[in-house]
Amino acid sequence: MERKRNIVIVGGGIIGCTTAYYLTRHPSFSPALHTVTLLEAAPAVAAGASGKAGGLLGLWAYPASIVPLSYRLHAELAAEHDGASRWGYRRLKCGSIEAVVTKEKLDGLQNPADENGKAWEKLPKQDEAAKELLQDEELPADLDWIDREVVRGWAEMGSPGATETAQVHPYHFTTSIAELAQKGGVTIKTNAKVTRLITSKAAVEGVEYLDRTTDEVNKITDVTDIVVAAGPWTGRVLPRAKVEGLRAHSVVYDVNVTPYAVFTDIELPADFIPDHRAKMGQKRQHKGRVDPEIYARPFGEAYACGEPDSDVPLPETADQVQFNEAHCDDIISYFATVSPVLAAAPIKAKQACYLPRHIRFGQESGPLIGPTVTPGLWVAAGHTCWGIQNGPATGKLMSEYILDGEAKSANVGNLDPRKFKV
Ligand SMILES: Cc1cc2nc3c(=O)[nH]c(=O)nc-3n(C[C@H](O)[C@H](O)[C@H](O)COP(=O)(O)OP(=O)(O)OC[C@H]3O[C@@H](n4cnc5c(N)ncnc54)[C@H](O)[C@@H]3O)c2cc1C
Repeated sequence: MERKRNIVIVGGGIIGCTTAYYLTRHPSFSPALHTVTLLEAAPAVAAGASGKAGGLLGLWAYPASIVPLSYRLHAELAAEHDGASRWGYRRLKCGSIEAVVTKEKLDGLQNPADENGKAWEKLPKQDEAAKELLQDEELPADLDWIDREVVRGWAEMGSPGATETAQVHPYHFTTSIAELAQKGGVTIKTNAKVTRLITSKAAVEGVEYLDRTTDEVNKITDVTDIVVAAGPWTGRVLPRAKVEGLRAHSVVYDVNVTPYAVFTDIELPADFIPDHRAKMGQKRQHKGRVDPEIYARPFGEAYACGEPDSDVPLPETADQVQFNEAHCDDIISYFATVSPVLAAAPIKAKQACYLPRHIRFGQESGPLIGPTVTPGLWVAAGHTCWGIQNGPATGKLMSEYILDGEAKSANVGNLDPRKFKV
C-alpha cells in the first residue's frame, strides 16, 4: 500500500516549481494520498534568479550527469504545453565574437581614464569542454546587429545546423510551470518565509514559516518530506548545505534582433571610460578587455549579463535584492561599442540577482540533488549559472527520489548531498 505523503517544498524558483510539477506528473502521484505545498518567501514565484536569468539552454552546459536529460525535458515540456508561445522556447545559434574597438571608432571619447581599472570577471558559463566546441567561422550574414567593422573573429558553438543551444524566457517558464503544478494539485503559498525546519535524527516533522502579510508565525505539521530548493538562500534554511549567493547584474533591451546568443571578448581603447562613470567623477571600472554576453530573446527582447560582484551580501528575501545602476550602465556602454542597434535600443530593465553556489573548500562544487542524512529531508540547490537549463531534470529526479525511492532518469550519485554530509 502506498503511504500518505505530506510534502513541503521550500522556494518558488525554477527548482522548487519543476519539483512541484514533476511530483504531480509522477505515475504514482495521487491527490488522495499526496499533499504538496510550495512555500515562497517573496510576494510571487520566480522573484529571484529564476525570473531574472538569461534563459540559455545548452547541450554543452554542465554538469554532464543531468544536462542531456534536462535539455530533452525542456523540448518535451515545450511540445506538451505550447512552450514556444507560452515561455518562448526556441532553438538559436550561439557563438563568440572577438572585437577590437579603436579610439577612432568611438566618437566623443573625451574622458581619458586616469587610472587602471580592474579586470572584467566573466560568469563561468563556458567550461573548457564547451570552449573546445567553438569552431572558427565567417561572421553570419544575419547576425546583422553586431558592427562588422570591429569584429576580428567569430567562432560558432558545435557543428553547423546542429541543435545544441536553445532558450526559454525564464520568468515565463517558471511561472507557467508553477501554474501547471497548481492545476495538478499543488498548493502555492507566497509571502511565506520558512524560518525553521522541524526535524529529528530519524525523520522530518514539520516547518515553521513567517506569513509576511500578517506577520504571524505558522506551522505545517505531520510533514513527511521537505525539499529545500531555496536557491542561494538554501544555506540560510539549512546551513550544512553550504549553498550561498553571488550577485550578478543584467539588462534587458527592448529590441527585436535575429536569434543568436553571443559571447564576447572586446578589446577597448586603453583610455576608455564609459560616460556614466566619467559624469560621476569616477575612474574607469575595467581595463583593456571585457567579455559580457548577450542573448537575443523571444518576445522582442535582448538580454545582456555582466559580471559577478560581492559588494552587497544576500538580503533576507528575493524582493529585497538591490541593483547598482552603474554596473548595469557598464554593460550597456560596452555593448554600445560593438552594436549600433543595441546602442539605440530602449532599456526595459536594469536588475541584479544571486547565483546559487554550492561551496566546498572555497571552491564551487556541483549542485546538490537528492536525499540528506535526515530521512525525508531533501535538497535541490546550488545550480550556479545553469539552473534554468538544469531545472527540469532536477525536478524530475527529485520526484523520482521522493516517490520511487531512487533517481531513475539519470545517474546523479555524484550530486548526492549525503556525500557532503548534508
Ligand atoms: C545574471 C544571471 C544569468 C543567468 N543566466 C542563466 C542562463 O542563461 N541559463 C541558465 O540555465 N541559468 C542561468 N542562470 C542561473 C539560474 O538563474 C539559477 O541557477 C536558477 O535560477 C536557480 O534557481 P533556484 O530555484 O535554485 O533559485 P532561485 O531562483 O533563487 O529561487 C529560490 C527561491 O527560494 C525562495 N526562498 C528563499 N528563502 C526562502 C525561505 N526561507 N522560505 C521560502 N522561500 C524561500 C526565494 O524567494 C526564491 O524565489 C543565471 C543566473 C544569473 C544570476
